[in-house]
Amino acid sequence: MPLEAFDQICHDIARAEARVCSVPGLASFGLPTKYFLREFYCTESGCDCRRVLVQFVPAAKPPRVAATINYGWEKPKFYKKWSLDPEMWREMAGASLESFGEQGPHADKFLLVFRKIILDHDLVTAFRRHYKLVKKITDVPPTPRGKSEHLS
Ligand SMILES: [Zn+2]
Repeated sequence: MPLEAFDQICHDIARAEARVCSVPGLASFGLPTKYFLREFYCTESGCDCRRVLVQFVPAAKPPRVAATINYGWEKPKFYKKWSLDPEMWREMAGASLESFGEQGPHADKFLLVFRKIILDHDLVTAFRRHYKLVKKITDVPPTPRGKSEHLS
C-alpha cells in the first residue's frame, strides 16, 4: 500500500503538532537524545487499514532515520478480518519494526521507547485524527462507469 508522509499531505497541522520525543538513555551510546516522530499514512483510496508508520528522526543533524516502526492501534481482530495473510494480522496490531523500512543500529531500543510513549492516549488519539484527515483527503469515490468523458 502506498504510504505518504503526513507532513507532505497536511503540512501546517504536521508542523503545529510536531512531536519531539526525548530519549535520554541514548546519550550513553553517543546518540542524539531528541527525535521527531515523522508519521506516514496509507493513501490508497478505499483502504481502511488503520495504521501508522512512524520514523524516529534526530531533531539535530544529521537527520538519519533511527528506526521505522509500524503501529496498528486497533485490536488484533480488526486486522484479522482485513488481512489476506493468515499470520500477518498478529503483527499488524501493536508496534513492530518495519522489515522493509530504514533502521538504525539501535532500532530495537526505539521500539521499546515507542511502546512506552503509545501508553499516552493523546499520542494515539493524534495518530487516529491524522489518519482520518489523510483518508478524508485521499479517499476518492469511484467514478461511475461510462460517465467519465462527457460530464459537463
Ligand atoms: Zn491502507
